[in-house]
Amino acid sequence: MADAPDLGSGRETYGGSSPPSRTHFIQGEFMHKIIFWVGLFLIINNTSCAFAKLAHKKSDPKKSNPVTENMAKAKSPESVHDNDEPMHTILPIPSHDEEPSHKMVSAPEHDEAPKHKKSHDSGAHKPHWSYEGKTGPAKWGHLNSEYKACSSGREQSPINITSGKLKDLQNIRFYYKPSKLNILNNGHTIQVDYDKGSSIRIDGERYDLLQFHFHTPSEHTIDGSLYPMELHLVHKNKHGKLAVVGIMMVVGQHNPLFDALWENFPAKEGKSHEHFKEKIDLSALLPPGERTFRYSGSLTTPPCSEGVKWNVLLAPISISNAQHIAFRDLFKKNNRPVQKLGKRTLWEDTTP
Ligand SMILES: [Zn+2]
Repeated sequence: MADAPDLGSGRETYGGSSPPSRTHFIQGEFMHKIIFWVGLFLIINNTSCAFAKLAHKKSDPKKSNPVTENMAKAKSPESVHDNDEPMHTILPIPSHDEEPSHKMVSAPEHDEAPKHKKSHDSGAHKPHWSYEGKTGPAKWGHLNSEYKACSSGREQSPINITSGKLKDLQNIRFYYKPSKLNILNNGHTIQVDYDKGSSIRIDGERYDLLQFHFHTPSEHTIDGSLYPMELHLVHKNKHGKLAVVGIMMVVGQHNPLFDALWENFPAKEGKSHEHFKEKIDLSALLPPGERTFRYSGSLTTPPCSEGVKWNVLLAPISISNAQHIAFRDLFKKNNRPVQKLGKRTLWEDTTP
């Protein structure tokens, strides 16, 4: 029995009277070490696999979400490197999640901003004004700070022209040449921008003709009476000072000198027509005689700027009823009411 070795019994090996052979001992110790190291290896390997799986799992949502990924890429080039290291990508995800909500909030702001700016800009630079109602002449001065003079100015135009202070005024010298027709409907009147080269001379000073336009009925009144229309010829000198010549228009004889202009009125506001073939010659349109009323006034439209040298001619020019109606079809009424003369002097020329 004793000869029969119990190869597999540890008890026999350690507790038996006969010591185990050295080879047997080395083999046993070796096996234990192998089992230990293999076991340790398996444990470590499983654990690291578990970490790797965990890390992989956590980084998955990011990788599977092209929106956040694109945003991360869009936000900064650095986040592209983050993709190489899953553990680092876990942290940026919440901040990426916040980003779209920021964008969602800011998007409407961007949409609104241009609208606000647009309405603000148009309101600041060109407030709407008209000849009637809430934006009519009585309100002009309150529509915009730039229009203040319309209500607070003390030398405003037009005025009622009665007998003035008699004086032998130096006659206006007209140096008008024909011009091509640059016709503009500016929403308030028909305006013709005149070619350069025409001017007047008042008291030895030259004023270049810029444009002419019309009002119906007239703006100035003569002894309290309105005329059917009034023509304004606007000039400017080298210092930027304006001089306007006002000519009353009566309804009677047809005026052929206005034909080319009247036939080409732009019907819609903001539209302009340029007619290079058609010319208009204002020198032929001037009334006979050069007697005038003269006073210091203003623009008769906002911003109602003062310091304008006004010259209203005594003699009127004529248009036909049909011509008057054609203009009134576009502008039924575009005249500012008369303003107080105040402390100003109205000069009346005594000589032709
Ligand atoms: Zn005018």
